[in-house]
Amino acid sequence: MTASDVLAELRESVLERGVPARPDQVLELLRLPDSRVEELLELAHRVRMRWCGPEVEVEGIVSLKTGGCPEDCHFCSQSGLFASPVRSAWLDIPMLVEAAKQTAKTGATEFCIVAAVRGPDERLMSQVAAGITAIKDEVDINIACSLGMLTASQVDALAAMGVHRYNHNLETARSYFPEVVTTHTWEERWDTLRMVRDAGMEVCCGGILGMGETLEQRAEFAGQLAELEPDEVPMNFLNPRPGTPFGELEPMDGAEALRTVAAFRLALPRTVLRFAGGREITLGDLGARRGLLGGINAVIVGNYLTTLGRPAEADLDLLDELSMPVKALNQTL
Ligand code: SF4
Repeated sequence: MTASDVLAELRESVLERGVPARPDQVLELLRLPDSRVEELLELAHRVRMRWCGPEVEVEGIVSLKTGGCPEDCHFCSQSGLFASPVRSAWLDIPMLVEAAKQTAKTGATEFCIVAAVRGPDERLMSQVAAGITAIKDEVDINIACSLGMLTASQVDALAAMGVHRYNHNLETARSYFPEVVTTHTWEERWDTLRMVRDAGMEVCCGGILGMGETLEQRAEFAGQLAELEPDEVPMNFLNPRPGTPFGELEPMDGAEALRTVAAFRLALPRTVLRFAGGREITLGDLGARRGLLGGINAVIVGNYLTTLGRPAEADLDLLDELSMPVKALNQTL
């Protein structure tokens, strides 16, 4: 199939009919020469506008428990197994509420509480419960959580606390996962995601691109995400952290990152596709603009978990300039 064939084919199937691109089509897109990337970005933008609309979802994240994780995800500076600079620390409830207030002030509709753990223990579950109660008392915002792998009873407990969305990333293609993590399996992550969906919470699941996976594995991953049908997919690009096993990898080239975002949009035409960590290092200051015109329809404001992001105002000003309204809270309920 030639490049123009695959774009013409997808214009008809994804743009006109909303049928997700198959992994073999995604692979064709990932192999497009740089000279065709603009055409692909334009198609991804049209698909996003047609099937999601112009609104952009804004989310803030806060780390309740940072560092000291027993798992060995090779990209992660929060693993306690590597010589990474992130030390273990906990946030208290008043600071959590303050972070939720600051997030709501930006117009964000989702506030995600994150902990660097394999899965929550009793202490973490009770901290999260207390935090959610305190936030709900004072702040009007949807609460999301990202607390690692869950048991069935923990899934039920979080649903009962009113958690709106649960984040758990598959991180990469099933076939590449053993090269990235050895302390748990891709299937264990998948099981948590199914339980979250069955309990009625929204599913947020994405991964990190540029960890040494092949283009075939990137396309495979897009297909696996499409099969899961998550409500939201955060797309991270590897920001190689010193001291981690992936610390010496090169950041992904900007054109390749944009091509990947656009290809994932065509595989996930109706999903909230979020720019998450690593976009600054991969794409620079222009990245937000190019991505928002190439398939992205959600952003994280403020700081990421372990590295600094761009200030909230910069992203909000950009949305204004692009005439893309921030999704209102009542649209997300
Ligand atoms: S990605 Fe999550 S589970 Fe893996 S080491 Fe980092 S904090 Fe732990």
